[in-house]
Amino acid sequence: MMKRMTGSESRRGYDLHTHSVLSDGTTRPGEIAREAAALGLDGFALTDHDTIDGWDEARRAAAECGVDFLPGIEITTKHEERSRHLLGYGIEPGAGELFEALARVRSSRLSRAREMVRRLARDYRITWEEVVGADDASTVGRPHIADALVAAGYFADRSTAFGAALHPRSPYYMSTLAIDTLEAIRLVRAAGGAAVLAHPAATRMRAPVSARELAALAAAGLWGVELDHPENRGEWLPELRSAASRLGLESTGSSDYHGAGKPNRLGDRTSPPGTVARIRDFVATPR
Ligand code: AMP
Ligand code: FE
Ligand code: FE
Ligand code: ZN
Repeated sequence: MMKRMTGSESRRGYDLHTHSVLSDGTTRPGEIAREAAALGLDGFALTDHDTIDGWDEARRAAAECGVDFLPGIEITTKHEERSRHLLGYGIEPGAGELFEALARVRSSRLSRAREMVRRLARDYRITWEEVVGADDASTVGRPHIADALVAAGYFADRSTAFGAALHPRSPYYMSTLAIDTLEAIRLVRAAGGAAVLAHPAATRMRAPVSARELAALAAAGLWGVELDHPENRGEWLPELRSAASRLGLESTGSSDYHGAGKPNRLGDRTSPPGTVARIRDFVATPR
């Protein structure tokens, strides 16, 4: 027998991790909203690296095209010297410790990118102006340097540029300021948000986030873990999944869309509406 589709069944969930031109994506926040609507998604979160400057445009466009918008951010953090990306949903915009820390992170990113370009300029004919030139980005990163190298004809795409010249063992590489992950979780909570650990088993990592580390993050107030992400390595997931459920952490799914900057397609991975309802409940509960 044919199953009749109701409106909600035909919807396709929420993509909870996307990037726009305000950080290292290649599409405007408004275009992400329109793409999400065209794909029939329930909604999406904009999670640009270390900035919320895309929220207003995303929210306006989402309202116009009838998709739900969840404000988010992806924060550059580190725990025990390892890079960890922390998603924050529903934080209150404005002043406060979190936004002061984010301003320091963005400013460090700027000087770090300048220094990397200075190093690269010994071997590649690229300039700082080409890296930041026509860009709307509030947060500068290696992808912008990659784009300049691609535009100058050295590499075919971002990925090739990363593999050849921008990876952490490259002579041109420099690290950038990252907030301690436990501190970042505290700051997200203090700003009224829900903290979710991004891509905890990404293939590029030497090892996945351990159950021990997850327990420490949970104790600091982590709300969830992004277990469904295109770059998570399948073999690493069962252990993380059981650790997350033991610790009472929620699980999210998202694509980590970067427009043309990465192969990840919008809506490839999604979270069900119930997950977003629980994020909103958590965010609305005074602490
Ligand atoms: P950064 O935060 O400046 O160190 O740059 C890291 C960002 O570069 C990540 O958020 C990814 O979006 C992007 N990235 C890392 N590796 C690659 C790759 N191989 N191809 C395209 N983008 C990448
Ligand atoms: Fe990125
Ligand atoms: Fe990330
Ligand atoms: Zn991301």
